Amino acid sequence: MAIFPIRTFGDPVLRSTATAVDVIDESIERLVEDMIETMYAAPGVGLAAPQIGISKAVAVFDVGDGAEVLINPEIIETRDEWTFEEGCLSVPDRYWPIERPGWARARGLNLDGEEVEYEGDELLGRVLQHEIDHLHGILLIERLEKNDRKAALRDLRNEGLGLLQ
Ligand code: ZN
Repeated sequence: MAIFPIRTFGDPVLRSTATAVDVIDESIERLVEDMIETMYAAPGVGLAAPQIGISKAVAVFDVGDGAEVLINPEIIETRDEWTFEEGCLSVPDRYWPIERPGWARARGLNLDGEEVEYEGDELLGRVLQHEIDHLHGILLIERLEKNDRKAALRDLRNEGLGLLQ
């Protein structure tokens, strides 16, 4: 296993749509192991493969019940609304109040290629939405209201982040 550096805001891999995994082979198993180790080292409650520079549709998370993996995941149902001070390992040390559905259900594959679903509110619902956003090239800043988003981008640029954009 290996701990990978986490790509940060401005890296184009974070803006790319991740490629679906066709075959769950040893390379995917190794990727998942590395992602879990990297997530715990950060530390974080979730990590998407693009965050370590791998544009594949793989996410891992642990909201307190152990490490879970979702391959080719999609959000299939949401309800309610909840505003939460959300952060991201790829935009370190910054938090914004972000409104999202308060409950979400996600479906994907596990490492055995079986279909699995996770659903929940609070942190689990939030993490599922946040990590699956990463697989579509969407960062949390894009979930802010327009004016808040502009202000956040201005702040990040003033601090020298995101210069590639
Ligand atoms: Zn993130």
